[in-house]
Amino acid sequence: MLKKQLLFMVMNFLKPLILFYLNICFNTYANSQVGFSMDTKTQPLKIVTDNLAEHTVLRKVAEDVKFPLDNNIKNLIKNMRQYVLDDENKDGSFTVGLAAPQVGYSYKIFLYQIPKALAMKYNIEPVELSSLINASYSPTKNSKEQLLWEGCLSVLDRMGEAKRYSEIEYTGYTEDGQKIQKIASGLLAQIIQHEIDHTYGILFKDKIPEDKKLHSIEEAIASRAENTK
Ligand SMILES: [Zn+2]
Repeated sequence: MLKKQLLFMVMNFLKPLILFYLNICFNTYANSQVGFSMDTKTQPLKIVTDNLAEHTVLRKVAEDVKFPLDNNIKNLIKNMRQYVLDDENKDGSFTVGLAAPQVGYSYKIFLYQIPKALAMKYNIEPVELSSLINASYSPTKNSKEQLLWEGCLSVLDRMGEAKRYSEIEYTGYTEDGQKIQKIASGLLAQIIQHEIDHTYGILFKDKIPEDKKLHSIEEAIASRAENTK
C-alpha cells in the first residue's frame, strides 16, 4: 500500500515534466513531418532576400514534395499565387516567377508565367500563371549557352548577365500529381531555369561569368541601352 502511495506521489510530481517533455517531442516531430502550418489569412508571405538573416533558405536544396499535396502545401501555393498576382505590374515590372524558398519554405515548388503585356512587348506567346513541383531541367541537343540579363526578388536592386541554356527539356509535376515533360526555349526557358535553380539553392548571381559582375539597376539599364545601340 505504502509503495503504491509513494509511486502515485512520484508520478504526480513527474506528470508536468513528462507532459512538457512529450510536448517538446511532439513539436519536434510535427516540425520535421509537416515543416510548417499555414493559415492563409493570418500569414501574408514575405520575400526572403539574400541580405536577411534567414537567407540560408535560399541556399538549401529544397525538399521534394509528396503527393497527394497536404493542405499546408496547397495553401502555400495559393498564397504564392496571390503574391504574384498582387505584385504584378506594381512598379511597371513583371513578376514572371516565384519559388517557395523565396518566401521562406524549403520545398521544390515554383510558379511561372509570361503575362500578356510582357508577351506582347517581346512578340511571344503568353503563359498563364502555373505551378510546377519537384522539377528539374537539362539542356537539349540544340541548346546553346547565352548570357541573359536577369534580376530576382531575392537579390535586391541588382541585375546581371547570367549564363543560360537557350533550350531546355524540363520535367515536373502539376498540383494534382500529373507528370509534365516539355521543351522550352527563349524567355520561358530562362524563367524556368531561374526558378528551378531556386529550388536547388542556386541564385542567378551564381551564373554570372567571372569577367561580368552584378550591376545596380541603373547601371544595368544603361549597359543594356548601350548594347542595343
Ligand atoms: Zn529569383
